[in-house]
Amino acid sequence: MWIIGKVKPLDEFLKEQPQKDPPFDEPPEGSNESTPLFHWTGHPFVDAGLVALLLLSRKHNPEELREEDVERAVEFAAELYLKEGWGTLLARIYRNNNPILMVNPSMRKNTTKDKLEFSLKGLFKLVKNPGESEEICQICGRYPALSGMKLRSIINTKERERPKEITGDIFPLLGTGDMRNYFPHGNEMGASICAHCLLLAQLFPIASYIITTRKGKVGGILVLHAYPYEKNLKLLEDAVGSARKSYLYNNAKGMTWPVDFIFDKIADLSKRVDLGYWNGVSIVAYYFLNGNRTGEQWIYTIRIPNPIILFIAYASTYDNSGWKRISSKRLGKKSGLHEYSKLTSKEAYAKLLNGESILPYFIDKKNRLANTKWSLLAFYCSEVLGLDKEALEFIKGVADKIVETIEKLPDNKLSRRVRELERAEKLYQFEGFFIRVERDRQELGVPEALMSFDDFARILTGYGEDLNVSWKTVKNLLLFRIYEKLHDRLMKASSKEVEGAEEADEEFEEGGEE
Ligand SMILES: [Zn+2]
Repeated sequence: MWIIGKVKPLDEFLKEQPQKDPPFDEPPEGSNESTPLFHWTGHPFVDAGLVALLLLSRKHNPEELREEDVERAVEFAAELYLKEGWGTLLARIYRNNNPILMVNPSMRKNTTKDKLEFSLKGLFKLVKNPGESEEICQICGRYPALSGMKLRSIINTKERERPKEITGDIFPLLGTGDMRNYFPHGNEMGASICAHCLLLAQLFPIASYIITTRKGKVGGILVLHAYPYEKNLKLLEDAVGSARKSYLYNNAKGMTWPVDFIFDKIADLSKRVDLGYWNGVSIVAYYFLNGNRTGEQWIYTIRIPNPIILFIAYASTYDNSGWKRISSKRLGKKSGLHEYSKLTSKEAYAKLLNGESILPYFIDKKNRLANTKWSLLAFYCSEVLGLDKEALEFIKGVADKIVETIEKLPDNKLSRRVRELERAEKLYQFEGFFIRVERDRQELGVPEALMSFDDFARILTGYGEDLNVSWKTVKNLLLFRIYEKLHDRLMKASSKEVEGAEEADEEFEEGGEE
């Protein structure tokens, strides 16, 4: 039987969908005879728990998991959760009364590995024998929901005497009563969740990155969730590795900003895979604290769409030092308005996630330098800004003709001409620049006009003001190409200039009347 699941983009799915339903009694090739124990669900916490289970078992596919794998992973978790630092961490993830992991400090005193193991293994028994229920799990939509009573019957604390609903204490951020919730299942009366999803939710801290403050305190928990799901294995590998190798939680390389860490992670992984690895991949990161004191409960959702992943991957592998120059600008006070500003230290990262253009970062006006190569710029323009390739080639062609003209000017005049473009903040100033270059062309006797009238109209007004591709985009692209080609001469010229700035201002006034 084939299952309709979100495992591939719709167009591919439709292409490969069989014309006729396969017979029901034949399992697909290569799969187990029996039903797999675990499944991807699309829920970030549950899926991260599954990644922990898979990586601890050194397996790639939920279908490969055996009972022994789960037993061993659960034993490991019971040992790990008693290690130094994990108690505090768990209290930042679950609410105070998680009776499975005994998070409450008063329970914690009496916690032993055996007790934790007992509860987790009890939960696993319920995975294997879920029993009957009128309700189906709201997370996986697959198994019968577990009742609070049944859950309490398997745990090893006195909490078992107080049956409760399945609430936020055992499934983070579920929301209960006056506590906030972030998932649609949030409900005062608890949620219908099955043993499968609940067990995995107890394991996900192992596959989490911990963003710490400069002083080393837990700043927030970062859970990365990728689609397609298999990509989660590589993304979370380091987190699980730290737990497995040294019983430590992974402190995200000491980075204090979640977005900086995620971008670094994508760049780092990209060194080991082809660009094609990221085709169709998107990542959503959940950055949260679920502390016990009021006011400490919050979550940020950070979405990294596919074009941005592809761009980071390409930029960091194709021209890493250029990418560092582009992204190195720190967030200024003025940039505090961006939605993502609290989550990153870098302006370009916040802008990328906000869907704003980062084109100005590709050039360094002060040093008249192109921060990277044209090909990376072109990749950004087409993949992220959505500028069509033909338009880009057209602008490049115009830029090259400008370069061909102004490179014939003496140094000081060349520098002044470029400054006119740099300082063009109004459309008429931008127009003025082209008129001057056209005149330069005639004076220098360069054959053919710079542009036809149609080209001229297209470059000035063909791209709407409100779109990413406005004349300001064109201006930045032209400057990039000019810096790329003429950087050395421009620097030589500006070092010789003393009174140049004032002169250029005057010329602008004149430009306005043209
Ligand atoms: Zn479930």
